[in-house]
Amino acid sequence: MREIAISTRRSFEIIDITGEINKAVKEECEEKGVSEGVAFVFALHATCALTICESADPGMMHDLENKLKELFPKGAGYEHDRIDGNAHAHLVNSFLKPSLVVPVKNGELLLGTWQAIVLVEADGPRKRRIVVEVIG
Ligand code: ZN
Repeated sequence: MREIAISTRRSFEIIDITGEINKAVKEECEEKGVSEGVAFVFALHATCALTICESADPGMMHDLENKLKELFPKGAGYEHDRIDGNAHAHLVNSFLKPSLVVPVKNGELLLGTWQAIVLVEADGPRKRRIVVEVIG
């Protein structure tokens, strides 16, 4: 299992982490002597999420950010906000999920042409820990 760290810079931010995940997958495959299987990717947090988004057009990342903010607005009278004011971020985490399973072929991620793995930061800035396990 590999662990990678991603430092986010804004309170809400969507970051393409495909390169970092693929590097970890390649190392995992070499270490385990496998070239095919699946990569399990998991963020060890309750206020960010992982998903897959079209990456060629930066506007699409903005569209995703705007839609998530519309669906889960900050401070919309949530019960949890009485405790620490970040219920909107927990909702993003629960609805998108903190994990992904992606196929692995030839020792690297098998993604469609326009697919990128993105980290959705919903309560930053923070240092985020993500683990990657290749199951061959
Ligand atoms: Zn909280």
